[in-house]
Amino acid sequence: MTLPQCDTPPTPQRTAGLRERYRIERERRVRPEGPGQYRSASAEFGYFAADPYTGAVPEREPLHDAVDVAVVGGGFGGILAGAHLRRQGAGVRVVEKGGDFGGTWYWNRYPGIHCDIESHVYLPMLDETGYVPEWKYAPGEEIRCHAVRIAEQFGLYEDALFSTAVTSLTWDETAQQWVVATDRGDEFRATYVITATGTLTEPKLPGIPGIEEYRGHTFHTSRWDYDYTGGSPEGGMTGLAGKRVGVVGTGATGVQVVPMLAEDAGHLYVFQRTPSSVDVRGQRRMTPQEAGADRRGWAAERRENFLRIVSGEHAERDLVADRWTESAALLEKLLPGFRRDGEPDFEVAYEAADHATMTAIRDRVAAEVSDPATAAALQPWYRYACKRPTFSDRYLPAFNRDDVTLVDTADSHGIERMTARGVVVGGVEYELDCLVFATGFSVGVSGITSGKLPVTGRDGVRLLDVRAQHGPRTLHGFTSNGFPNLIQMGSLQNASSVNFTHVLDEQAVHAAALVAAAEEHCAVVEPTREAEDAWIGICAQGAPDHEWFHAECTPGYYNREGRGRPNGPLAYPHGAVAFHDLLRRWRAENIIEVLQARASASV
Ligand code: NDP
Repeated sequence: MTLPQCDTPPTPQRTAGLRERYRIERERRVRPEGPGQYRSASAEFGYFAADPYTGAVPEREPLHDAVDVAVVGGGFGGILAGAHLRRQGAGVRVVEKGGDFGGTWYWNRYPGIHCDIESHVYLPMLDETGYVPEWKYAPGEEIRCHAVRIAEQFGLYEDALFSTAVTSLTWDETAQQWVVATDRGDEFRATYVITATGTLTEPKLPGIPGIEEYRGHTFHTSRWDYDYTGGSPEGGMTGLAGKRVGVVGTGATGVQVVPMLAEDAGHLYVFQRTPSSVDVRGQRRMTPQEAGADRRGWAAERRENFLRIVSGEHAERDLVADRWTESAALLEKLLPGFRRDGEPDFEVAYEAADHATMTAIRDRVAAEVSDPATAAALQPWYRYACKRPTFSDRYLPAFNRDDVTLVDTADSHGIERMTARGVVVGGVEYELDCLVFATGFSVGVSGITSGKLPVTGRDGVRLLDVRAQHGPRTLHGFTSNGFPNLIQMGSLQNASSVNFTHVLDEQAVHAAALVAAAEEHCAVVEPTREAEDAWIGICAQGAPDHEWFHAECTPGYYNREGRGRPNGPLAYPHGAVAFHDLLRRWRAENIIEVLQARASASV
């Protein structure tokens, strides 16, 4: 790991003082309930999760047929798996809760939405589709349309089921098929099932006392109510003219939405508990030549270069050259394999680099926000990447407007309570016509990890029971003993990266290769218990060293609201680049090890 130089290395006294400040700021925000402080957008709050983008869902007859591959989820994971499978001639049926493809980008359409990872590395399959984004950071609608573009190009619409949720997956040993049941009465069969159900999919609400009493208009950012606000993701929300609007939450979503609401609301109240680190954005148009898009294979090369840099690997050049890559050394803390003391003087160098970066971010707030008290409240006091870093050139200046008020809720650990008229903080009631929740998503509750989608494998064994008893057991995160031909996408015992679409594309390639190998050898895909044990052992390496960072961080979903990481190995510890290399070698040399003979009845 090469840490950036720091001009003013902190003295031991300054470092101790800074750590103490971080500890105090963390304590101001930790809540004893941890993740239990939130409520899910279900039951009486179910309307917060309803689909505002697709009108009445047309009736259709339930399906009782058979397909080669069922893919659960139509976000980028499912789309990429479907695309790679279609390339090798498999029949694919994608089942998706939303009314179209897009996943995150279907649901999140709030004003100002962009992806803060460079468009040329974030948008997958640019080489295959020939599409070249115009802006360095793509608007959400462009990303959603690209998802649709890939789905169209690879024929995924033909057999897709939208506005449909898979409700159970059950292995039929005799037929050697999965039975896929849905909430639309379908009960069809699939030789293979790929789950691509995402991680941050279920909107969550703060469990603020009195939240149910509020009588003004309210919605979650991931279900934007344009019928009420008017306008589009580009702004123009005429419905908010003269209205008192509140927004709860200043994470990556809040930072993007606040400048847009500031433009259009009569008065905007931003209810903040923890300020984000808001770094330089640098949005601009880029020519195809500048992105290198005049060469074959340019997109794969560029995103590999980005992945290498943000994973702490060596790269000759930094092609993307933005604040992600410039802060890459500090992102390594997010890797399970990150070690506190692997090199001489490491800790001093690390503290110095972190100090320099966070000082620059705090100084930027002071330079951009004219009211000193507001600026002080907007300064983040924690280590870089304790919370997801954000990037904006419009967020901080929004607080210089007379019609924008920052309401700091840290001393009351968040909003105190809600009334029929509005929000109470520090004993003051803020009357609001509309309250927008930019309060994020529940983690680890979607798909097969949640119980909402029960998976029953061979001999009636339930996947959730196995996990409850033995913890997650997989080979490479994809496959589990007792659950033949079930391929799981996601970061569990797999890899993760800030550029998650790249990880998903590698996963999709792998999933398609597993299916191809099983078809070629007339087998099922299923690891042995020994292979799972070996993989769990590899994932466990380095995990204990990683947790000090999260334990000292301000609360958020990265550290289970201040409780540190969940026990047990979660991801491959040595980063996505090493993981992808490992998978490539394994596919070339050992893929046959994950194949088992099909039960004789079906052969
Ligand atoms: P987050 O979970 O990151 O933020 C939720 C916000 O709600 C926090 O500011 C939180 O404060 C606040 N909050 C929660 N409860 C209360 C309360 N009781 N009172 C006051 N404030 C409260 O959600 P986001 O939607 O912002 O982001 C989720 C993820 O989505 C990101 O981490 C990122 O992975 C992704 N994303 C990516 C983007 C991109 O450009 N690539 C853009 C937007 C999102 P506190 O911090 O104190 O808990």
